[in-house]
Amino acid sequence: MRLLLVEDDPMIGDTLREALRRQGFAADWVRDGQAADAVLASERFDAVLLDLGLPRRSGIEVLKTLRARGDVTPVIVLTARDALSDKVAGLDAGADDYLIKPFELDELLARLRAVTRRGGGRATPMLEVADLRLDPATREVTRAGRPILLSAREFALLEALLERPGAIVSRAQLEDRLYGWGEELESNAISVYMHQLRKKLGADLLHTVRGLGYYAGPEKGGAA
Ligand code: CA
Repeated sequence: MRLLLVEDDPMIGDTLREALRRQGFAADWVRDGQAADAVLASERFDAVLLDLGLPRRSGIEVLKTLRARGDVTPVIVLTARDALSDKVAGLDAGADDYLIKPFELDELLARLRAVTRRGGGRATPMLEVADLRLDPATREVTRAGRPILLSAREFALLEALLERPGAIVSRAQLEDRLYGWGEELESNAISVYMHQLRKKLGADLLHTVRGLGYYAGPEKGGAA
């Protein structure tokens, strides 16, 4: 999942981005409202974590601009304790949820799962194909009921493929989901993770379509 973090406090921003990356998110970080506007106008994210008190342009203005364009990317507003007016203004401007600082990472992760699930229009949180199941909430993966341990990146890759079983996802799309700006990225990283996933899950449900990308599900005719 690719996230944009908009936060001017260097300590909160740095800590949060690192924590999110350790969880397997591709987390990008901008520090003022104008930079947020520019990035949101040109790139796609699965969710935005938006501080309201920002230099150059307030979080509320950033949010209003985003929604005025018809962009429905889920936004979680980060507000200071007791700032009730901030919460109300954020929700009125089109935020999906808010969190009061300081917050626990676990709570942020739960809210992120909830807003992105709603955004994706999925009624049930469990992702399944054949006898392979992935639970985004507990981060458990099972095959025929047998638990399978995955690294954070392997999990993120599998989640991306299972969100749309049978749909081909390009290597570039997967790289976007797994890596933020400036993160070291080996050119064959996705192939390596796919190889590891096949070793752990079995090769029959994860397929490569040469030159196009990858998909999860029963093998389609003509796919390699
Ligand atoms: Ca701030």
